[in-house]
Amino acid sequence: MKVVLQNLTKIFPSRNKKSGEEVVAVNDFTFEIPDGKLVGLLGPSGCGKSTTLYMISGLQKPTAGKIFFGDEDVTDLSPVNRGIGLVFQNYALYPHMTVKQNILFPLQNLKGEDKMTKEQMLERAHQAAQLVQIDELMDRKPSELSGGQQQRVAIARALVKMPRVLLLDEPLSNLDARLRLQTREEIRRIQKETGITTVFVTHDQEEAMSISDLIVVMKLGVVQQVGKPQDIYDNPTNLFVAKFLGTPPINVFKGKVSAEKLYIGEQAVLDVKGVEDCDVTVAIRPEGFMLDENGPFSCKLSNVEVMGRDVSVVSTHEESLNPIIRSIINADNKIDLTAQEIRYSLKPHKVFLFDAKTENRIYFE
Ligand code: ADP
Ligand code: MG
Repeated sequence: MKVVLQNLTKIFPSRNKKSGEEVVAVNDFTFEIPDGKLVGLLGPSGCGKSTTLYMISGLQKPTAGKIFFGDEDVTDLSPVNRGIGLVFQNYALYPHMTVKQNILFPLQNLKGEDKMTKEQMLERAHQAAQLVQIDELMDRKPSELSGGQQQRVAIARALVKMPRVLLLDEPLSNLDARLRLQTREEIRRIQKETGITTVFVTHDQEEAMSISDLIVVMKLGVVQQVGKPQDIYDNPTNLFVAKFLGTPPINVFKGKVSAEKLYIGEQAVLDVKGVEDCDVTVAIRPEGFMLDENGPFSCKLSNVEVMGRDVSVVSTHEESLNPIIRSIINADNKIDLTAQEIRYSLKPHKVFLFDAKTENRIYFE
Protein backbone atom coordinates (compact mmCIF):
# COMPACT_ATOMS: atom_id res chain seq x y z
CA MET A 1 0.00 0.00 0.00
CA LYS A 2 1.49 3.27 -1.14
CA VAL A 3 1.13 6.14 1.35
CA VAL A 4 1.01 9.74 0.13
CA LEU A 5 1.56 12.74 2.36
CA GLN A 6 0.43 15.94 0.69
CA ASN A 7 1.48 19.30 2.15
CA LEU A 8 1.05 17.87 5.63
CA THR A 9 1.25 20.49 8.37
CA LYS A 10 0.63 20.30 12.10
CA ILE A 11 0.52 23.38 14.28
CA PHE A 12 0.05 23.07 18.03
CA PRO A 13 -1.40 26.08 19.85
CA SER A 14 0.90 27.62 22.41
CA ARG A 15 0.87 25.92 25.81
CA ASN A 16 1.52 29.18 27.58
CA LYS A 17 -1.36 31.55 26.85
CA LYS A 18 0.52 34.73 27.77
CA SER A 19 3.82 34.62 25.96
CA GLY A 20 4.04 31.28 24.21
CA GLU A 21 4.12 30.90 20.48
CA GLU A 22 2.41 28.17 18.56
CA VAL A 23 4.59 25.24 17.53
CA VAL A 24 4.85 24.27 13.89
CA ALA A 25 5.63 20.61 14.58
CA VAL A 26 5.43 19.54 10.93
CA ASN A 27 5.72 22.03 8.10
CA ASP A 28 4.43 21.32 4.59
CA PHE A 29 5.60 17.71 4.36
CA THR A 30 5.03 16.19 0.93
CA PHE A 31 6.23 12.67 0.25
CA GLU A 32 5.17 9.42 -1.35
CA ILE A 33 6.07 6.26 0.58
CA PRO A 34 6.39 3.55 -2.06
CA ASP A 35 4.38 0.35 -1.65
CA GLY A 36 6.13 -2.32 0.39
CA LYS A 37 9.10 -0.20 1.41
CA LEU A 38 10.51 0.64 4.81
CA VAL A 39 10.98 4.37 5.26
CA GLY A 40 13.07 5.74 8.13
CA LEU A 41 11.97 9.08 9.56
CA LEU A 42 15.16 10.47 11.06
CA GLY A 43 15.96 13.62 12.99
CA PRO A 44 16.83 15.00 16.42
CA SER A 45 14.35 15.01 19.27
CA GLY A 46 11.49 17.46 18.71
CA CYS A 47 11.83 17.66 14.92
CA GLY A 48 8.31 16.35 14.28
CA LYS A 49 8.84 12.64 13.66
CA SER A 50 6.21 11.34 16.09
CA THR A 51 3.73 14.00 15.05
CA THR A 52 4.13 12.90 11.42
CA LEU A 53 3.62 9.27 12.43
CA TYR A 54 0.55 10.07 14.51
CA MET A 55 -0.97 11.97 11.61
CA ILE A 56 -0.43 8.94 9.36
CA SER A 57 -2.04 6.78 12.05
CA GLY A 58 -5.00 9.12 12.54
CA LEU A 59 -4.27 9.71 16.23
CA GLN A 60 -3.61 13.35 15.36
CA LYS A 61 -5.43 15.45 12.83
CA PRO A 62 -3.36 17.57 10.44
CA THR A 63 -3.83 21.33 10.58
CA ALA A 64 -3.49 21.30 6.78
CA GLY A 65 -2.76 18.81 4.06
CA LYS A 66 -3.96 15.36 3.08
CA ILE A 67 -3.02 11.72 3.57
CA PHE A 68 -3.76 8.96 1.06
CA PHE A 69 -3.45 5.20 1.46
CA GLY A 70 -3.23 4.11 -2.17
CA ASP A 71 -5.85 6.24 -3.91
CA GLU A 72 -8.05 6.50 -0.84
CA ASP A 73 -8.11 9.81 1.01
CA VAL A 74 -7.86 8.76 4.68
CA THR A 75 -7.35 12.25 6.14
CA ASP A 76 -10.69 12.18 7.98
CA LEU A 77 -10.72 8.45 8.73
CA SER A 78 -10.41 7.37 12.37
CA PRO A 79 -7.38 5.28 13.41
CA VAL A 80 -9.39 2.04 13.73
CA ASN A 81 -10.64 2.37 10.17
CA ARG A 82 -7.27 3.06 8.60
CA GLY A 83 -5.86 -0.44 8.88
CA ILE A 84 -2.66 0.50 10.63
CA GLY A 85 -0.45 -1.30 13.12
CA LEU A 86 1.29 0.87 15.71
CA VAL A 87 4.32 0.04 17.86
CA PHE A 88 5.65 2.43 20.48
CA GLN A 89 8.91 2.74 22.37
CA ASN A 90 7.37 1.51 25.64
CA TYR A 91 5.69 -1.68 24.31
CA ALA A 92 2.35 -0.70 25.93
CA LEU A 93 1.27 -4.29 26.57
CA TYR A 94 -1.62 -5.10 28.91
CA PRO A 95 0.19 -6.32 32.04
CA HIS A 96 -2.63 -8.52 33.38
CA MET A 97 -3.04 -10.41 30.09
CA THR A 98 -0.91 -13.24 28.75
CA VAL A 99 1.06 -12.86 25.53
CA LYS A 100 -1.67 -14.75 23.71
CA GLN A 101 -4.43 -12.52 25.10
CA ASN A 102 -2.43 -9.41 24.22
CA ILE A 103 -2.04 -10.53 20.63
CA LEU A 104 -5.68 -11.64 20.35
CA PHE A 105 -6.98 -8.37 21.73
CA PRO A 106 -7.14 -6.34 18.49
CA LEU A 107 -9.04 -9.17 16.78
CA GLN A 108 -11.70 -9.46 19.47
CA ASN A 109 -13.02 -5.99 18.75
CA LEU A 110 -13.55 -6.51 15.04
CA LYS A 111 -17.11 -5.84 13.95
CA GLY A 112 -19.39 -6.70 11.04
CA GLU A 113 -17.76 -8.35 8.06
CA ASP A 114 -14.37 -8.42 9.76
CA LYS A 115 -15.61 -10.40 12.76
CA MET A 116 -13.72 -13.67 13.18
CA THR A 117 -14.45 -17.03 14.79
CA LYS A 118 -12.41 -18.10 17.79
CA GLU A 119 -10.47 -20.61 15.65
CA GLN A 120 -9.66 -17.99 13.03
CA MET A 121 -8.43 -15.61 15.71
CA LEU A 122 -6.23 -18.24 17.32
CA GLU A 123 -4.79 -19.18 13.95
CA ARG A 124 -3.94 -15.54 13.18
CA ALA A 125 -2.44 -14.94 16.61
CA HIS A 126 -0.32 -18.04 16.18
CA GLN A 127 0.92 -16.88 12.77
CA ALA A 128 1.84 -13.45 14.12
CA ALA A 129 3.64 -15.00 17.09
CA GLN A 130 5.57 -17.30 14.77
CA LEU A 131 6.61 -14.39 12.59
CA VAL A 132 8.24 -12.64 15.54
CA GLN A 133 9.41 -15.93 17.05
CA ILE A 134 7.60 -15.81 20.38
CA ASP A 135 5.21 -18.72 19.82
CA GLU A 136 6.73 -20.55 22.79
CA LEU A 137 5.97 -17.70 25.17
CA MET A 138 2.22 -17.48 24.55
CA ASP A 139 1.12 -18.27 28.11
CA ARG A 140 3.48 -15.88 29.89
CA LYS A 141 2.63 -12.47 31.25
CA PRO A 142 4.59 -9.42 29.98
CA SER A 143 6.41 -9.13 33.32
CA GLU A 144 7.89 -12.58 32.68
CA LEU A 145 9.52 -11.44 29.42
CA SER A 146 12.71 -9.55 28.56
CA GLY A 147 12.43 -6.12 26.94
CA GLY A 148 13.22 -7.56 23.54
CA GLN A 149 10.55 -10.24 23.92
CA GLN A 150 7.99 -7.67 25.04
CA GLN A 151 8.71 -5.58 21.99
CA ARG A 152 8.21 -8.66 19.80
CA VAL A 153 4.81 -9.18 21.39
CA ALA A 154 3.96 -5.55 20.65
CA ILE A 155 5.00 -6.09 17.03
CA ALA A 156 2.93 -9.28 16.80
CA ARG A 157 -0.05 -7.41 18.20
CA ALA A 158 0.44 -4.69 15.56
CA LEU A 159 0.69 -7.29 12.78
CA VAL A 160 -2.18 -9.57 13.78
CA LYS A 161 -4.84 -7.51 12.01
CA MET A 162 -2.71 -7.60 8.85
CA PRO A 163 -2.40 -3.83 8.68
CA ARG A 164 -2.05 -1.91 5.44
CA VAL A 165 0.66 0.20 7.01
CA LEU A 166 2.97 -0.53 9.94
CA LEU A 167 4.07 2.46 12.03
CA LEU A 168 6.93 2.16 14.52
CA ASP A 169 7.86 5.02 16.86
CA GLU A 170 11.39 4.54 18.23
CA PRO A 171 10.64 0.85 18.88
CA LEU A 172 14.19 -0.03 19.92
CA SER A 173 14.95 2.82 22.30
CA ASN A 174 14.22 0.86 25.46
CA LEU A 175 16.39 -2.11 24.52
CA ASP A 176 20.03 -2.61 25.43
CA ALA A 177 22.66 -2.33 22.70
CA ARG A 178 22.83 -5.99 21.72
CA LEU A 179 19.07 -6.50 21.68
CA ARG A 180 18.66 -3.32 19.72
CA LEU A 181 20.87 -4.69 16.95
CA GLN A 182 19.13 -8.05 16.94
CA THR A 183 15.62 -6.61 17.05
CA ARG A 184 16.28 -4.17 14.24
CA GLU A 185 17.39 -7.03 12.03
CA GLU A 186 14.22 -8.87 13.06
CA ILE A 187 12.06 -5.91 12.12
CA ARG A 188 13.74 -5.75 8.74
CA ARG A 189 13.18 -9.47 8.17
CA ILE A 190 9.52 -9.28 9.21
CA GLN A 191 8.96 -6.24 7.03
CA LYS A 192 10.49 -7.99 4.02
CA GLU A 193 8.56 -11.21 4.64
CA THR A 194 5.21 -9.46 4.98
CA GLY A 195 5.84 -6.71 2.42
CA ILE A 196 3.92 -4.25 4.61
CA THR A 197 4.65 -0.59 3.89
CA THR A 198 6.42 0.57 7.04
CA VAL A 199 7.40 3.88 8.61
CA PHE A 200 10.12 3.62 11.23
CA VAL A 201 10.81 6.65 13.43
CA THR A 202 14.22 7.04 15.04
CA HIS A 203 16.70 9.70 16.17
CA ASP A 204 19.55 7.22 15.68
CA GLN A 205 21.17 7.70 12.29
CA GLU A 206 22.91 4.35 12.32
CA GLU A 207 19.62 2.58 13.00
CA ALA A 208 17.89 4.43 10.18
CA MET A 209 20.77 3.84 7.76
CA SER A 210 20.91 0.13 8.47
CA ILE A 211 17.27 -0.85 7.97
CA SER A 212 15.64 1.73 5.69
CA ASP A 213 15.00 1.55 1.96
CA LEU A 214 14.57 5.30 2.07
CA ILE A 215 15.38 7.88 4.73
CA VAL A 216 13.64 11.18 5.36
CA VAL A 217 15.83 13.58 7.37
CA MET A 218 13.86 16.20 9.32
CA LYS A 219 14.81 19.31 11.27
CA LEU A 220 12.38 21.58 13.12
CA GLY A 221 9.37 20.17 11.28
CA VAL A 222 10.92 20.65 7.86
CA VAL A 223 12.11 17.83 5.59
CA GLN A 224 15.78 18.36 4.76
CA GLN A 225 16.51 15.49 2.42
CA VAL A 226 14.96 12.27 1.15
CA GLY A 227 16.89 9.41 -0.39
CA LYS A 228 18.50 6.03 -0.10
CA PRO A 229 20.75 5.85 2.98
CA GLN A 230 23.99 5.59 1.00
CA ASP A 231 23.01 8.40 -1.36
CA ILE A 232 22.27 10.79 1.50
CA TYR A 233 25.54 9.86 3.20
CA ASP A 234 27.50 10.38 -0.03
CA ASN A 235 25.63 13.49 -1.08
CA PRO A 236 24.24 15.56 1.80
CA THR A 237 22.27 18.56 0.65
CA ASN A 238 23.18 20.82 3.56
CA LEU A 239 25.46 21.01 6.58
CA PHE A 240 22.80 19.73 8.98
CA VAL A 241 22.38 16.49 7.03
CA ALA A 242 26.15 16.07 6.62
CA LYS A 243 26.61 16.39 10.37
CA PHE A 244 23.65 14.21 11.32
CA LEU A 245 24.74 11.13 9.35
CA GLY A 246 27.89 9.11 9.98
CA THR A 247 29.94 7.66 12.85
CA PRO A 248 32.45 8.89 13.74
CA PRO A 249 30.86 12.22 12.83
CA ILE A 250 32.00 14.31 9.90
CA ASN A 251 34.84 16.80 10.55
CA VAL A 252 33.90 20.44 10.09
CA PHE A 253 36.22 23.39 9.35
CA LYS A 254 36.07 27.06 8.56
CA GLY A 255 37.38 27.59 5.04
CA LYS A 256 37.59 29.86 2.08
CA VAL A 257 37.63 29.44 -1.68
CA SER A 258 39.99 31.59 -3.67
CA ALA A 259 40.91 31.14 -7.34
CA GLU A 260 39.23 27.70 -7.35
CA LYS A 261 41.35 26.47 -4.47
CA LEU A 262 39.99 25.49 -1.08
CA TYR A 263 41.88 27.01 1.84
CA ILE A 264 41.67 25.78 5.41
CA GLY A 265 43.71 28.36 7.29
CA GLU A 266 46.77 29.20 5.17
CA GLN A 267 46.84 25.81 3.50
CA ALA A 268 45.39 25.21 0.03
CA VAL A 269 44.07 21.70 0.61
CA LEU A 270 42.05 20.89 -2.53
CA ASP A 271 41.26 22.09 -6.05
CA VAL A 272 37.58 23.04 -6.27
CA LYS A 273 36.84 23.83 -9.91
CA GLY A 274 33.78 25.91 -10.67
CA VAL A 275 33.43 27.53 -7.23
CA GLU A 276 33.50 31.31 -6.98
CA ASP A 277 35.54 33.00 -4.25
CA CYS A 278 33.60 32.84 -0.99
CA ASP A 279 33.66 31.82 2.68
CA VAL A 280 32.67 28.21 3.17
CA THR A 281 32.13 25.61 5.83
CA VAL A 282 34.09 22.49 4.89
CA ALA A 283 32.99 19.03 5.99
CA ILE A 284 35.29 16.03 5.56
CA ARG A 285 34.26 12.43 6.24
CA PRO A 286 36.68 10.55 8.55
CA GLU A 287 37.49 8.20 5.66
CA GLY A 288 38.30 11.17 3.41
CA PHE A 289 41.83 11.62 4.74
CA MET A 290 44.84 9.87 3.16
CA LEU A 291 48.17 9.77 4.98
CA ASP A 292 50.60 11.63 2.76
CA GLU A 293 53.98 12.94 3.93
CA ASN A 294 53.84 15.64 1.29
CA GLY A 295 50.10 16.20 1.58
CA PRO A 296 48.74 19.75 1.70
CA PHE A 297 46.70 19.41 4.90
CA SER A 298 48.71 19.50 8.10
CA CYS A 299 47.12 18.79 11.48
CA LYS A 300 48.46 18.54 15.00
CA LEU A 301 48.63 14.89 16.02
CA SER A 302 47.07 14.05 19.39
CA ASN A 303 46.43 10.35 19.57
CA VAL A 304 45.87 7.11 17.65
CA GLU A 305 43.07 4.77 18.73
CA VAL A 306 43.29 1.15 17.64
CA MET A 307 40.07 -0.31 16.25
CA GLY A 308 41.48 -3.50 14.69
CA ARG A 309 41.18 -3.30 10.91
CA ASP A 310 41.46 0.48 11.06
CA VAL A 311 42.92 3.07 13.36
CA SER A 312 41.26 6.29 14.34
CA VAL A 313 43.69 9.19 14.23
CA VAL A 314 42.81 12.07 16.54
CA SER A 315 44.27 15.46 15.69
CA THR A 316 43.49 19.15 15.97
CA HIS A 317 43.55 22.17 13.70
CA GLU A 318 43.01 25.85 14.38
CA GLU A 319 40.20 26.13 11.85
CA SER A 320 38.35 23.03 13.04
CA LEU A 321 34.86 23.79 14.33
CA ASN A 322 34.93 20.63 16.44
CA PRO A 323 37.33 20.13 19.37
CA ILE A 324 39.02 17.25 17.56
CA ILE A 325 39.44 15.87 14.06
CA ARG A 326 38.96 12.16 13.60
CA SER A 327 40.26 10.33 10.55
CA ILE A 328 39.95 6.62 9.83
CA ILE A 329 43.11 5.05 8.40
CA ASN A 330 43.88 1.46 7.49
CA ALA A 331 45.81 -0.16 10.36
CA ASP A 332 48.57 -1.34 7.99
CA ASN A 333 49.84 2.23 7.93
CA LYS A 334 52.45 2.92 10.55
CA ILE A 335 51.96 6.21 12.31
CA ASP A 336 54.78 7.81 14.26
CA LEU A 337 53.19 8.71 17.57
CA THR A 338 56.09 10.91 18.58
CA ALA A 339 55.51 13.23 15.63
CA GLN A 340 53.91 16.59 16.32
CA GLU A 341 52.31 16.83 12.93
CA ILE A 342 50.33 14.56 10.65
CA ARG A 343 49.89 15.36 6.97
CA TYR A 344 47.04 14.36 4.74
CA SER A 345 45.83 14.68 1.22
CA LEU A 346 42.05 14.57 0.77
CA LYS A 347 39.67 12.40 -1.25
CA PRO A 348 37.63 14.98 -3.18
CA HIS A 349 34.37 12.98 -3.06
CA LYS A 350 34.58 12.87 0.74
CA VAL A 351 34.88 16.65 1.03
CA PHE A 352 31.70 18.75 1.02
CA LEU A 353 31.51 22.53 0.81
CA PHE A 354 28.67 24.56 2.28
CA ASP A 355 27.84 28.24 2.07
CA ALA A 356 29.14 29.72 5.32
CA LYS A 357 25.83 31.57 5.88
CA THR A 358 23.01 29.48 4.37
CA GLU A 359 24.77 26.15 5.07
CA ASN A 360 23.54 24.89 1.70
CA ARG A 361 25.82 22.73 -0.38
CA ILE A 362 28.20 24.26 -2.92
CA TYR A 363 29.19 21.74 -5.57
CA PHE A 364 32.59 21.56 -7.25
CA GLU A 365 33.97 19.52 -10.13
P1 ADP B 1 9.97 14.03 17.73
O1 ADP B 1 9.10 12.82 17.71
O2 ADP B 1 10.74 14.23 16.47
O3 ADP B 1 10.86 14.08 18.92
P2 ADP B 1 7.45 15.46 18.09
O4 ADP B 1 6.72 15.17 16.84
O5 ADP B 1 7.07 14.69 19.29
O6 ADP B 1 9.02 15.33 17.82
O7 ADP B 1 7.31 17.00 18.44
C1 ADP B 1 7.52 18.02 17.50
C2 ADP B 1 7.29 19.38 18.15
O8 ADP B 1 5.93 19.52 18.48
C3 ADP B 1 8.05 19.58 19.44
O9 ADP B 1 8.46 20.92 19.50
C4 ADP B 1 7.03 19.26 20.50
O10 ADP B 1 7.30 19.96 21.69
C5 ADP B 1 5.75 19.75 19.86
N1 ADP B 1 4.57 18.98 20.29
C6 ADP B 1 4.37 17.65 20.15
N2 ADP B 1 3.17 17.27 20.63
C7 ADP B 1 2.58 18.40 21.11
C8 ADP B 1 1.32 18.69 21.74
N3 ADP B 1 0.42 17.73 21.96
N4 ADP B 1 1.09 19.97 22.10
C9 ADP B 1 1.99 20.94 21.86
N5 ADP B 1 3.17 20.75 21.27
C10 ADP B 1 3.48 19.50 20.90
MG1 MG C 1 9.03 11.22 19.08
